[in-house]
Amino acid sequence: MTNVTLIAGGVGGAKMAEGFDMCKEVELTIIGNVADDDEFHGLWVSPDIDTIIYTLSGKINRSQGWGVNDEGHRALDVLKELGKETWMFLGDRDFGLHIYRTERLKNGDRPSDITHDISQRFGIKSKINLPTDDKVQTRVRTTEGWQTFQEYFVRDKCVPDVLELHYEGLSQSSITHEAESSIVNAELIVLAPSNPLVSISPIIEIPGFNKVLQNTNVPIIAVSPLINGKVIKGPADKMLASLGYRPDVLGIAQYYKDVISHLIIDEQDSSFFEDINSIGISPYSTDILMRDAMDKKRLALKILEIFYTLEEKA
Ligand code: GDP
Repeated sequence: MTNVTLIAGGVGGAKMAEGFDMCKEVELTIIGNVADDDEFHGLWVSPDIDTIIYTLSGKINRSQGWGVNDEGHRALDVLKELGKETWMFLGDRDFGLHIYRTERLKNGDRPSDITHDISQRFGIKSKINLPTDDKVQTRVRTTEGWQTFQEYFVRDKCVPDVLELHYEGLSQSSITHEAESSIVNAELIVLAPSNPLVSISPIIEIPGFNKVLQNTNVPIIAVSPLINGKVIKGPADKMLASLGYRPDVLGIAQYYKDVISHLIIDEQDSSFFEDINSIGISPYSTDILMRDAMDKKRLALKILEIFYTLEEKA
């Protein structure tokens, strides 16, 4: 068995998690992003963690890549009738999970414990760890001023340009012992093809996290969320550009320069090999678009194959 720790955001993160989860030879631990979390209608909603939970428990709405399959919107309709803002879609089944989480948080339970219990109840075999039990929330400054992440992402559909990012609460937060031990015990660390700015950074920049990552001597392999300078979904390319980074695989390599040892890019981006090598990161190319379950497993197996080759060389 190979201990793989995956650092992951929502949709891209969950796809990669599902790929590794399908590999019999992998003992998978996921460290998910909590900085997209927010309160809606008095309930604490954790979109990225829930996307991973719904994906690995088979409850996910496959065509959307988030939310629950066979979902209703009756609860949200009532809230709308009562005059509440309902731009954040929360389905009827989904509400059940948010009620459960919020009730336990009110009872003083640790977010990490709540997440483990949900995973177990939903029959998930991989472990889902939170990077911190503290509240860390991404704030986005756009042409419209400072906003919460979900206001920018869902309400404004990522239309305004992002001019600045802030992870509120980050400097006072601390890494959970679960996240720390899953880094220490990993044989391979993978950064999922998630948004580097709002999914991966708010995890790895948690005080203590970076140091634990730097102290490991296992390979840290990232999968690019961009193919041919474009995202598969979401605002990462646009955000990278408006924040002054290159919106392509070289930009991803530069962004992760101090963190990763290897970067997996798409075959279409092979022309960047030399540039990526020149900043001290080893590139590998393969088909990194995960269209279905087979693609996810194929990519996970490819990463393992690279890892085994590295081990043989060591
Ligand atoms: P979010 O928090 O739900 O936005 O999810 P993530 O941050 O985990 O994922 C968003 C990123 O996933 C986007 O930048 C996408 O380009 C990337 N992504 C989604 N599907 C795929 C895929 O099949 N392959 C790769 N390489 N990236 C993907």
